[in-house]
Amino acid sequence: IISVNHLQKSYGDHQVLRDITFDVKKGEIVSIIGPSGGGKSTMLRCINLLEEPTGGEINFNGSDITKPGFNRNDYRSKVGMVFQQFDLFENKNVLQNCMIGQELVLKRSKEEAKKIALENLKKVGMDPFVDAKPKQLSGGQQQRVAIARAISMNPDVLLFDEPTSALDPEMVGEVLDVMQKLATTGLTMIIVTHEMAFAKHVSDKVIFMSDGVITEQGSPEDIFDHPQEEKTQKFLRNFR
Ligand code: ATP
Ligand code: MG
Repeated sequence: IISVNHLQKSYGDHQVLRDITFDVKKGEIVSIIGPSGGGKSTMLRCINLLEEPTGGEINFNGSDITKPGFNRNDYRSKVGMVFQQFDLFENKNVLQNCMIGQELVLKRSKEEAKKIALENLKKVGMDPFVDAKPKQLSGGQQQRVAIARAISMNPDVLLFDEPTSALDPEMVGEVLDVMQKLATTGLTMIIVTHEMAFAKHVSDKVIFMSDGVITEQGSPEDIFDHPQEEKTQKFLRNFR
């Protein structure tokens, strides 16, 4: 569904992504791990066109998303993102947060948007909180709402950038549980995470990125049990 070929991204003369090549098949769960500053967030931001790549290609169902003439608005509505900082609309309640994108972007009616929002809030266990404002919720609850909001757009691909790293430890589990459940629904997911046990358990493929390149990629067993590269081994030792 997505194939990234020799992707590069520089800010001035600082080359953050040097040569990134991988692909994601429909329904696959791909986890990206690696040290801070390695370019993981930058790569996700290129995939959803929050950043403009400076080289290489990103193909979505065979079309290069960076080419002039590519329908970016349509693409953006098909690629959802869940951020570290939840990023909910503070002045809107939980239900409104999950409806607004559906109405504005997908042009769904209020009734339809509400129905879909409620279904998805139920899936993440947040249906009892429809009237709450984000500030009244815990971090874990806010992140579950952010996930419900993202899936209410029926994305083809959902990107996660360290969705649990801003959470108090006791709330990490509830968000990972929701993600794990989502992973079984056939949704394509690309997940940047430091939750190694989760990544090992849920992923079809794991990519280890550092210094703007993919050092190693493979099955969870390849990467976690038999890493071939010194850099991967060293990184993983810090998580044991
Ligand atoms: P972390 O695990 O800490 O989130 P990361 O792998 O997500 O790290 P990025 O946030 O992608 O890493 O950053 C990679 C490098 O790109 C860093 O050196 C960062 O300073 C640089 N960088 C990111 N965004 C910008 C920007 N808008 N302008 C200039 N440099 C940037
Ligand atoms: Mg990051």
